[in-house]
Amino acid sequence: MNRFGHIGFALLVLSPLIDKFDLGYILIAVASTLFPDIDLLLKIGHRKYTHNITFGFLVGILVFMLSKSFWLAFLVLMSIFAHILADLLTIQKFAPLYPFSKKKYALKLFKSNNTAINTAVLLLGLASFAYFSNIDLPEILIKLAKLI
Ligand SMILES: [Zn+2]
Repeated sequence: MNRFGHIGFALLVLSPLIDKFDLGYILIAVASTLFPDIDLLLKIGHRKYTHNITFGFLVGILVFMLSKSFWLAFLVLMSIFAHILADLLTIQKFAPLYPFSKKKYALKLFKSNNTAINTAVLLLGLASFAYFSNIDLPEILIKLAKLI
């Protein structure tokens, strides 16, 4: 997925938790769903080192060490897992259990840059966020625009 699809997918996964956690934690976690694609910037092999559960746990531990908040670290971990799950729906195979298993998976449902699907997932995520947060949609768009 592209970054809009990932934001939408993270919103879908995390919005039902809004009444359980601090809204700031949820928004930080949603933004952190983009972190695995840092491999594109670093040019270290797309979906090789940053698209697996090990990377998720390492980032979660780092977030815990920096913030001293178990729940923020947990939400960031969930958000990175959401990224991995969303990318598993696309064409390019990768190993989500690396380094424990090098077996690569892909459900090959659509291309990661499919505009219609990424837009639809973003809109679904926004609708989910609006439903669970009871915040006006324009206010949500302003908050998300600051994250993207
Ligand atoms: Zn990715």
